[in-house]
Amino acid sequence: MTRILYARPIKESLHLNLKTSIQKLKKNGVVPWLRVLLVGNNPASEVYTKNKKKFIEGLGGKCDIIHIEGDTTEQHFREKVRSLSSEKDLHGFLIQLPLPKQLSHIDAGNLIPPSLDVDGLNSLNMGELLKGNVHKNSFCACTPKGIVTLLDYYDIPIIGKNICIIGRSLIVGKSLSALITNRNGTVTLCHSKTKNLEYHTANADIIIVAIGSPKFLKTHHLNPSKKQTIIDVGINKSQQGKLLGDVDFENVKESVAAITPVPGGIGPLTILSLAQNLLQAAEKTL
Ligand code: NDP
Repeated sequence: MTRILYARPIKESLHLNLKTSIQKLKKNGVVPWLRVLLVGNNPASEVYTKNKKKFIEGLGGKCDIIHIEGDTTEQHFREKVRSLSSEKDLHGFLIQLPLPKQLSHIDAGNLIPPSLDVDGLNSLNMGELLKGNVHKNSFCACTPKGIVTLLDYYDIPIIGKNICIIGRSLIVGKSLSALITNRNGTVTLCHSKTKNLEYHTANADIIIVAIGSPKFLKTHHLNPSKKQTIIDVGINKSQQGKLLGDVDFENVKESVAAITPVPGGIGPLTILSLAQNLLQAAEKTL
């Protein structure tokens, strides 16, 4: 029978640990504090930032969302980032992506001081990830970290397995390929120019899809004899407002060994990873 890999039991099992660690910090006078900069009125970004705030505050941390207008100039945006991220006692700072068109060329991760970059998008943190140092003095990008947390929780082995990642964005595919390589998985990183995608997906023990194309992965990509695990990172909205993943869940679920749902799969674990990174940043200040 196909295993559905829900985030909920993982969150429940790690929630108490996180809460207890934050209480300990608070007894030492440190309240983990995340600041999120939200530019414009992208409805999805508003929901994501609210969810982050709710989760961090539910753990006993502090999270403020600073909102600036979507038509802000580059100069104003850069000044805002500089002033907001230089606040004393702040442990984490992130810029909610995507940025509006006139700012979209900016490398937002590199505007954030590496020690506050709990999203793991600064070049220094990315470099540490490539070197395999991620759990020591740097931060790992949240979605890749959440995916590996899920695989570990459900005892899905990585070592020596063929792992096909579809989508090569910095925030998901590229970071994840480094993280999984560090964990001794054999990664094939596919993208829109990949030829014969089905060849790569059929050869994989684990397929991870992060492309932003609803219900893209179907049975013709699969190889049922391999008892594959499918990780769906995609978050797309249907015209009726329903959340859809990049995997055609109903189409593939009987042909695989395990699969993450959307919603309730990787999304909540991305926020969990953010909280873990924030805690790590706050603990360093003791
Ligand atoms: P990007 O748009 O930055 O990147 C998309 C990637 O997919 C690109 O590398 C692109 O290739 C590749 N791609 C697009 N179409 C195809 C195709 N038909 N075949 C193969 N590759 C293709 O997206 P993100 O990584 O930011 O996001 C991807 C999805 O994941 C979105 O739905 C997003 O909402 C979701 N997401 C979910 C998160 C969560 O917490 N669950 C967190 C982050 C993202 P190329 O490089 O050649 O253009």
